[in-house]
Amino acid sequence: MRTHLNMLKRNYYDWRYWNHLYRTMQHSINNITVSNETLVPYISKPGIAFSFDDSARILDWCKYGIELFGYYDVKATFNVNGVHTIEGRRDHTQEEIDMLLELQSNGHEIAHHGYKHRNANKYCAEFGMVKWIEDEIKKLFSWMDLQSHSKNKEKFRKTVSFAYPYFSYSEKMNKEIIPKYYKVARGHLIGGNLIDFNSTGVVPSLCIDSHLLREPSNVNKILKFAKMACKNIIFTSHSILPEEAKWEEFGWELTENEGRWRTSPRVIQYIIDEARKLDMEFYTTAEIGGVATFIDPHFESCVRKKLHISEDKWILIHELMSVKELDLRNQNIKSLDGIQYFINLEKLNISQNQITDLRLLEKLPKLKHVKKDEYLFDQAVKN
Ligand SMILES: [Zn+2]
Repeated sequence: MRTHLNMLKRNYYDWRYWNHLYRTMQHSINNITVSNETLVPYISKPGIAFSFDDSARILDWCKYGIELFGYYDVKATFNVNGVHTIEGRRDHTQEEIDMLLELQSNGHEIAHHGYKHRNANKYCAEFGMVKWIEDEIKKLFSWMDLQSHSKNKEKFRKTVSFAYPYFSYSEKMNKEIIPKYYKVARGHLIGGNLIDFNSTGVVPSLCIDSHLLREPSNVNKILKFAKMACKNIIFTSHSILPEEAKWEEFGWELTENEGRWRTSPRVIQYIIDEARKLDMEFYTTAEIGGVATFIDPHFESCVRKKLHISEDKWILIHELMSVKELDLRNQNIKSLDGIQYFINLEKLNISQNQITDLRLLEKLPKLKHVKKDEYLFDQAVKN
């Protein structure tokens, strides 16, 4: 009897929670008129971003995330700390750092989530804003600068976004860290929860952890609202774990809540499928903030040189959209990832590199002339 009552209660809370979200979203898009123009990725084509928090989850992000997102060709954002957030805040092992760099080399964004995952409002109230920036923001930058992959020596890229631990923040904090340290900072529910392109400042997100999203189809309406408004949605979660994986296997003593802060590959898959049906795009938080990221550092440095963007600046996507010709000849480039931002590109030279995958070129509607090596010819014909 009691279990039945609890179930009814949970269903009611669920219903109330999601219906409240739908109503606020509906309200926020009431005055929006949707144009019939062709939607362009990164500037007008609505999309979703997956965002995962807490360094304690690196192992499962890597174990399930790389394959899952790789299969669907989706990039996600992983928000990390400078220490392991559960095991007594120990330092990260080199293995964990390698895993994060592997996520990065698969095109995912590695973003900040506070050096020690402190609650910003509480910490600032006790020690002041200057110390919070010193201990949580600057310390994470310095820590990341020191890390590299044990084998290929790869480093972390310039950070673009931040995710507030416990969704705790204030307007004053935002002003201190944006744009000095980050382009965007992810919060929780804000207004209609839809996000404009090229956003600067704090952006909302919706949590899809299993205790909040018990029924995956609850996101369907949300995706439709974003699609109608031609805006973006960020879905936040923590661990990526199949339903059958048990928390206890990690050997951690966890509160009930910590154990539930997870989503399963099945749910992620479901959301990806539904978003695809609506012809939505998949972005990282950085991309919603209008910042381009590249997998291949050689490609990135070519772009910086051509557009005179110094190392300490973000490469803004709209700057790349005006480029019509790009000469990447003999630059030791392996991956063309990042070329998708050059939507007005007409002429491209990629000869004398080590590029093997040309599929991204299909995303460039105006590209007419591609100069490439002989060995890529077959692939290009198929395209
Ligand atoms: Zn967190």
